[in-house]
Amino acid sequence: MAISENSAMQMDKTLHWQILGALVLAAICGFIFEPNTAIGNGVLNVFDFVGGLFLNALKMIVVPLIISTIILGIANMAKQDSFGRVGAKTVGFYLLTGILAVISGLLFVNILQPGVTDNAPQLVAGIGDTTSIMERVEGRSTGDLIAIIERAIPANIFQAASETQLLALIFVGVVFGYFMSKLTGSIADTMTNFWTGVHDVMIMITLWIMRFAPVGVLALVGVVAIRSGWDAFQPLLTFALTVLLALAFHFAVVLPLLLKFVGGVNPLAYYAKVSRAQLTAFSTASSSATLPVTIRSAESAGVSNRVTGFVLPLGATVNMDGTALYECVVVIFIAQILATTAGVEFTLMQQLTVVLLALLTSIGVAGVPAASLVAITLILTAVGLPVEFIGIVLAVDRILDMCRTAVNVTSDLSITAIIAQSEGDDLEAANDDSANVSEESPSAA
Ligand code: ASP
Repeated sequence: MAISENSAMQMDKTLHWQILGALVLAAICGFIFEPNTAIGNGVLNVFDFVGGLFLNALKMIVVPLIISTIILGIANMAKQDSFGRVGAKTVGFYLLTGILAVISGLLFVNILQPGVTDNAPQLVAGIGDTTSIMERVEGRSTGDLIAIIERAIPANIFQAASETQLLALIFVGVVFGYFMSKLTGSIADTMTNFWTGVHDVMIMITLWIMRFAPVGVLALVGVVAIRSGWDAFQPLLTFALTVLLALAFHFAVVLPLLLKFVGGVNPLAYYAKVSRAQLTAFSTASSSATLPVTIRSAESAGVSNRVTGFVLPLGATVNMDGTALYECVVVIFIAQILATTAGVEFTLMQQLTVVLLALLTSIGVAGVPAASLVAITLILTAVGLPVEFIGIVLAVDRILDMCRTAVNVTSDLSITAIIAQSEGDDLEAANDDSANVSEESPSAA
């Protein structure tokens, strides 16, 4: 089956420029419109509505797309007996990049010391009401490690699908794909053709939804720009800068070095090919909602479905470098504020506990906006710091969420490229991001 959508292809080449333009426009809206004014509220309402539609459209395709991608990927892997090998590499790289991310966070927060500031008492005085904090974090966690494992085997497949429980869907997809590979004869072809068809249609829908990305991005980011405003940012500037620098270091130094020296992949060329997924992650602040675009970007960059099918859905759920880094910086920032205002010392042992918990809890964090907050409350409790202090960072959380989600998705994509290259996919051959322009069915990538 060939996908014939020439008009979409023409648009695609300029799409990321259109998205970047939308980001600039959204930032300008942040300067022009004030919240709590008639015009500002009117614009916010329109943006909320349009942004919600775009997000819903992306979420709408997550379940069928990941199920079909996983089933095809696993069935292919099982036929080639490469499941164990790819699985081991995936887990190994997820751990490695997570550890490197947390180390970056630890370094930057200890060097820049954003909590050691004259503003500290002011920041503490400004802590909002804790009930609203608890409301914001409610339902964002997938629970502790045991709960995560329990949830991975769903009692009801349809309920798991209706709640987009990614881990459960991965489990079902893996089992289904594995046993599908055991079918023989014409029924095996029928099943493969069916799931290939579902996958290809979902990819076409993804491309179609992405045509509306500039408008969706303007709305989603516009809301944040108007609501956050510069005033909220100023007292937290050093903290925000610390997070941004650490994230930038992981994004622009650590991951590219791994791509180049471990994967043998040209980082600049690869980042250019997957920029659409990075921009979508930034705009939606949700790894899960971005998943269709992430899968499509990797496949159009030359990664085979065999690799994307397993590595990306799992990555969107458990591999959260930006999140782990952020958790670590926030908790140590709060500890520094307490040391500055109340002289409470934070020991090395406590810092190490934070590192370990940041790594573990980032696995359980759901790929939705603000999900880190719940993990941060868990870590604060575990190391004996006051939970309500999380209120200090709420004003800038959304903007930093957008950045850490982009890092989360970039890490998934980088690991995917490294594994794909080691499994014999030829990423250099797919040197055109228009990508989306392949004459072939996408699953053939
Ligand atoms: N928003 C992040 C994601 O979807 C999770 C978080 O750090 O809050 O990847």
